[in-house]
Amino acid sequence: ASLTLKTAVQGAPSAVAVIIPSKPTALTTTYADLVAEIGAFQQKLAAIGITKGSAVSIATVNSYEFIVSFLAASWQRAIAAPLNPAYKQDEFEFYIDDVRSAIVLVPRGAYAAGSPAVKAAQRFNAAIAECYWDPVAGHVALDVKELGQLKTATPQPLLAPEPDDVALILHTSGTTSRPKVVPLSHRNLTRTMRNIQATYQLTAADRTMLVMPLFHVHGLVCALLAPLLTGGSMVVPTKFSATDFWPDFITHKANWYTAVPTIHQILLKHPAPSPLPSIRFIRSCSSPLSPTVFHLLEDTFKAPVLEAYAMTEAAHQMTSNPLPPQKRKPGTVGLGQGVEVVILDDAGNPVPQGTEGEICIRGENITTGYLNNPEANAGAFTKSGYFRTGDQGKKDEDGYVVITGRIKELINKGGEKISPIELDNVIARHPAVSEVVSFAVEDEMLGQDVGVAVVLKAGERVSKEALRGWVAERVAKFKVPVKIYFTDVMPKTATGKIQRRIVAETMQKQEG
Ligand code: ATP
Ligand code: MG
Repeated sequence: ASLTLKTAVQGAPSAVAVIIPSKPTALTTTYADLVAEIGAFQQKLAAIGITKGSAVSIATVNSYEFIVSFLAASWQRAIAAPLNPAYKQDEFEFYIDDVRSAIVLVPRGAYAAGSPAVKAAQRFNAAIAECYWDPVAGHVALDVKELGQLKTATPQPLLAPEPDDVALILHTSGTTSRPKVVPLSHRNLTRTMRNIQATYQLTAADRTMLVMPLFHVHGLVCALLAPLLTGGSMVVPTKFSATDFWPDFITHKANWYTAVPTIHQILLKHPAPSPLPSIRFIRSCSSPLSPTVFHLLEDTFKAPVLEAYAMTEAAHQMTSNPLPPQKRKPGTVGLGQGVEVVILDDAGNPVPQGTEGEICIRGENITTGYLNNPEANAGAFTKSGYFRTGDQGKKDEDGYVVITGRIKELINKGGEKISPIELDNVIARHPAVSEVVSFAVEDEMLGQDVGVAVVLKAGERVSKEALRGWVAERVAKFKVPVKIYFTDVMPKTATGKIQRRIVAETMQKQEG
């Protein structure tokens, strides 16, 4: 039968679901607690008029309230739209406008403080509610501060989701144009949950250490939703901390985790716990894991390391290296997992094994298409219905997928994708700037970080610090360029077009 996010929460009532390792005492909840809490929160949402298709934006850090509000929205046939709580007002406005949020959920105290999310919600007349764990009441609170457009709404009956309802909306990072809006249905999500369950043979006995943000598919789908389906448990700190990671992992008896390579590398720079906990496997995804780091991880933590390949449009996972006794191959992202993977040439024909082409995929997990974007949808699928990933790759002699490059030019900062076009646009607005091109620079820990080449207007001067300050006021801090190269002329191709790769190569020969 077709699952939904309601029927896919399948833990035994007395089994541990979520552990929040906050101090001094951890919050431990069972599946019975979780299901009751989601139901109660769904009622609160329904009471203010949230119904099928309402967009519920969630701008909180990883927390019990995130998990409860996310699932409650989807149970009410509404659409959860998680947002990075670190965004600045402009960014919140962009996303809130784009998904037409009916309500924006913010942390306790955010309303009085007039947080960027609150101001953005007010601009688009969305309802605003603080959402937090109330330890006195022992429940997740929905403290409505403004009703906005819901003022005229009537209380709604409780609903139950259908497989083709959209449950989640996330944006891509945006390379050639504005970020694309990806709707994912209950069908897409539960398929990817089942694929992940099968890949790693997840059971109720597994407990994940959830350290990836829940506002991206990586953390949300692999570390939260897939374990919920198998009745497993999750340990959920607010965010990744290198010093708390192993103490939390050991105290709360986790046995696996998934993360971007940057997190693995940070863990490797800290002392390994002694004695080591028993780790069933370590999963790496979202940016390339170098074979050197792969071997270091396996040697240090005595666990199989499984690299996977995922994207938002696929509701996360497409391929993964398999568990032992099947072989894992460093430098590859493994085999299609419940997802058909083909390598196609420019004309859309399959290439011979070992030849490079575009990685294309087909499966029930893949979005049916971007929202309000016929142009992007026109190029997104091949005639035979394969989704074009935009990634270049090949299959090796064992059929394992090797990613050889990105057809696009996003800056992948430790798994966090930064659109160079967005940064170009922000910096170009500076009065002293005549031309700007943003690109990725190599970074040992993060894989990539942000570099920009800038041509100033004649007679203008601006310091690197002032330019960084300009960017920091307008976009989230992680997007501020670490390298700024001033240049008299922007390198261009013979036809006068700017190629980021060429600018990046030319600039990095000088001191940033
Ligand atoms: P946009 O669609 O706007 O260009 P994006 O594709 O970068 O953004 P995501 O959906 O978050 O945004 O990331 C998916 C991409 O991440 C993949 O297409 C691929 O380029 C990269 N990626 C994911 N896993 C791996 C991996 N294991 N190795 C290398 N690259 C990876
Ligand atoms: Mg993409």
